[in-house]
Order: sequence, then C-alpha cells, then structure tokens
Amino acid sequence: MPGATAQTLRPFLWRARRMFPDREVVSRTHEGIHRYTYAEYADRVGQLANALDGAGVERGDRVGTFCWNHHRHYETYFAAPSMGGQLHTINPLLPDHHVQYIVENAADRIILVDPSLVEKLAGAYDEEAFASVEQFVVMGSEVPDTSLENVVDYESFIGDEDATYDWPDLPGDQPAGMCYTSGTTGKPKGVEYTQEMLWSHTMATLPEAGLDLRSSDVVMPVVPMFHVNAWGMPFSTTAAGAKHVYPGPSPSPADLASLIEEEGVTLTAGVPTVWLGLLEYLEENDADLSSLETIVIGGSAAPKSVIRRFDEEYDVDVLHAWGMTEMSPIGTVARLKPGMESLPAEERYDKQAKQGLLIPGLEMRVVGDGGEELPWDGEAFGELHVRGPWVTTEYFERPEATEEDFEDGWLKTGDVVTVDEEGYVKIVDRAKDVIKSGGEWISSVELENALMAHDGVAEATVVGVPHQRWQERPVAFVVPAASADEESLKTELVEMVKSEFPKWWAPDEVVFIEEVPKTATGKFDKKVLRNQYDDESLVEGKAPEDAAPDAND
Ligand code: AMP
Repeated sequence: MPGATAQTLRPFLWRARRMFPDREVVSRTHEGIHRYTYAEYADRVGQLANALDGAGVERGDRVGTFCWNHHRHYETYFAAPSMGGQLHTINPLLPDHHVQYIVENAADRIILVDPSLVEKLAGAYDEEAFASVEQFVVMGSEVPDTSLENVVDYESFIGDEDATYDWPDLPGDQPAGMCYTSGTTGKPKGVEYTQEMLWSHTMATLPEAGLDLRSSDVVMPVVPMFHVNAWGMPFSTTAAGAKHVYPGPSPSPADLASLIEEEGVTLTAGVPTVWLGLLEYLEENDADLSSLETIVIGGSAAPKSVIRRFDEEYDVDVLHAWGMTEMSPIGTVARLKPGMESLPAEERYDKQAKQGLLIPGLEMRVVGDGGEELPWDGEAFGELHVRGPWVTTEYFERPEATEEDFEDGWLKTGDVVTVDEEGYVKIVDRAKDVIKSGGEWISSVELENALMAHDGVAEATVVGVPHQRWQERPVAFVVPAASADEESLKTELVEMVKSEFPKWWAPDEVVFIEEVPKTATGKFDKKVLRNQYDDESLVEGKAPEDAAPDAND
C-alpha cells in the first residue's frame, strides 16, 4: 500500500517551522548581516508562493533564479517547488550564449535576479531566447537602472501577500528542480529533479553515512546555490532543523572566517579553491575556527595537503565528497570506517583523499573498455556507473545525449576510477573532455572551435593542466598557419577568447606546436599532450602531486 502522501519537500518546511521556529537563517548581504527565524522564513515562503501564484505561475512552470547564496534565494527553494512549480537555478558565471540557450530550453516563466547580476542578465538578454519570461524580480527592495522590462523588486513582489499558503498534495514524480550541466562538450544539458529525487537525496545525506547533519549544526554552504541546489544543503539543513548561514555575493576568505567565528559555523562546504584561499588567509590572519567541525570538499578532488592542514593545524575534519549534477548531486563521501581512526595519520589522509564510499541508496559498478565489470582491487580502473533514486535517467529534451550517457538505468559518469577492497572510490582520470577550474566548467571544444576559426591558426586543441589554486587551467596548443606571426598571434588569440567567453576561460598559456597528436581514428589525442606537459609547470601554481590523480599511479 502506498503512503498517504508522496515523498515531497513540504514536510521538511513544516517540521522546521513547527519544531524549530526559533532556529536562525543568517545571510551576509551588502547592507550587513541579515537574520530571521524559521518561523519568519516560513511566512515569507508562503508570501512568495502567493506572489508567484498571482504572477500566473502554474503547476509545472519553471521559476528561474540568477542569484548568489542568501535568504531570499533560499525562500525560492521551498516556495517554487512546494506550490508545484519547478525551481530552475541558472549559473550566472556561464557565457551569455549558454544563458540564452538555457532560458530558452527551460522556458522559464519568471526570473529572480540579484541586484549585482542584473547587468549581466541584461547583457545576456535576447528577445527570442527570453520569449517565455514574463517578469524579472530583483532580489532586494529596489530596482536598479536596467534595460530589462517588466521588472519588480522582491520586497514589493511579496510584500502585500498572505503568509498562509494552501500547499498542494503533489505526486512524487512532480518536477521540482532543474539545473544545467556544462560538464561535457556542446550545449549545456538540463537535469530535472522530481520531488521524490530531492526528498530521497535529502534523507540520504542527513545521517552519518552522508553529511551527518543535526539540529545543533550551523551549516554554511559556500558552494553556490546555482550549483545543484548547493549540494542539496538548503533542503537537508531545513530537514535537520539546523541553523543556516548564507555567505552572500563573492565572499572573501576574510568574510568566511568572520562568519564561521561570529555565527559558530559547525559545517561548511565548497570546492577546493575556496579552502585553499581560506588556508592562505589564515597564515597571515587570526581567526577563531573552534566551532568548525567539518568542511565538505567536493566538485574537484580535495588535495591531501588541504585535508592534512585542516586536521593538524585547525582540528577540522575534511569530508571529501564526490557527485554530479545528474546525481542531485551527492554520490560518495570519504568517511572513515570503524577502526580506521587509529590508522597512522598519512594512511588516514590517503583514505580521505579518495572520493569515498557510496552513500546508502545508490549502487555502482566499474566498467572496463570491453564493457566487462572490473574487480574492486584498488588497481583495475574503468568508468564508474551509478544508479539510484536521486540519479536522473535522462537529459531534458536531449535524446542523443541521454543515449550516450545512460545505459539500462545506469548513469555513465565519465569519471575513471579504481575501487579498493573496502569500497573506497578513487577518481584517477576523466573520460569526458572538459576542464574544471575552481569548480566551474570550461568547454575545451568551444575554445578549440573559436581558436580554429582564427586565420592565423591551422589547428588547435585545449587541454586542462593541473593548477594548485584552481585545480585545472586551460592551455591551448596551436599549430600556427604558415603566414602567422607567433608573438602577435598569441596575444590576439587570448584577447579573442576573452571577448567571446567569460575572461576566466582564456587559456593561461598558448603553446605553439607543429602538429596536434591524433588517435588511430584521427581524433585529437589530448592524453599525449597532457602526459607530455604534465611534468612542466606550464601555468603558475603547479598542483602538488597528491592533487593530480593520474591513471598511471
Ligand atoms: P558537476 O556536474 O558540475 O557537479 O560535475 C561533476 C563532475 O565533477 C564529476 O563527474 C567529476 O568529474 C568532478 N568531480 C566532482 N566531485 C569531485 C571530487 N570530489 N573529486 C574529483 N572530481 C570531482
């Protein structure tokens, strides 16, 4: 017999409001620290749902957000899905043409945008791509000067609305969230999260085998809320009845240290770049991190040196996590098993530097080149496949991509791994041709196409090179056309990329070569280039050995 209600987000909000009405939600804003309680939060969620209703948002409609991490963004997290809409978080760091594609593909009805991002959104605005968007809501109490039309400020939008909303009974398969991944070549791919996917991800990440969240925790997601729902933490923190701390737009290491100290943060999460920045800051500055118990590091491999330093110098446990947009997103956490606590420190750090153990509810297999399943011996490496209730089985309106990346219900992750006898996954390579810099994707194929369109270029390929701070940076390998002047060509190419793409996509180095190595089938053989240039410090800040997992180690 099915339960009386489906697996939805609604009870998480209800529980937090009724059982933890006084727990706080804190945000860093341009005007200073903003704080209120779950009771006030829940009222505003009700007001927002009524306002969205009033704006014509109906069951199944998409509500886009173009925002950093703050309380208003968190209000959309429960209001939009719980009224039957679909929360679509858009990444403001993407190139304009990706934003256009995403808004058009998702057909957002309304977009909520941060004041500091209005200009960026207006720059990406395109009448045809944004044809579905009826209104823009600026996340504040005023509307800045903008070329966008039909703009209202958030506080006026929700101000006169009733705080009570008659939340519907939604089916578990109701689409509730959406996020695009640029993880592979070509156009971004949409991933939809149903109510039951978000519910099951929340329930799986709450206990010790996941993130181990308690009502006494003070949780600060530094990972952006436009990245797979900040790894689901706004939902799981609410389900736990814990205190939220949102670090606002572009927090510096000093901002993070001060929030940890002032708000008593116990658990925080983000990509390695953030924590390298904090460690650097702490070398020069004093901060009291004594409340902090755990830093969840994911998105890229957590360097062993970072795990070691947080443990030895600050008594903070790094919980290394791996996941994907397609997985809502958490798949593994590198928690030590009973008995491992007493291992020599270096052995412990080695285990923690692996991506870890699958969280309960998921299944995995490692598949070799010939399609055979590989043993868990810590040696054999192959592609990791996963499946489970919060792993999607398709991309939104992209049947060819779906066919490529999924097989009999398994998601083919594109991550090449070993699994040791104890079940710890270790990523040793990436089969997909992309570069991840500071937690954000750079499409090597798009850069290659742009470079090869230049008259002075005969052939070009772009490779990710290990980098200490950003984990990876792009380096372009270019075969110049016979007539080209190499010195001016280098500058021209970098300038061209900066004008067509976000500036941080520009290659750190342009290396001229005579020929791009090719595979037997004539494709660019990037492995050869990567292996050839791995030993050289092509870009500033060569990664330490333990940050650059290699298929051959
Ligand atoms: P995204 O969909 O943007 O979250 O990116 C997912 C991809 O990021 C994975 O398939 C991995 O290639 C990479 N990734 C995520 N977490 C880690 C990690 N802990 N270590 C190494 N790579 C990671």
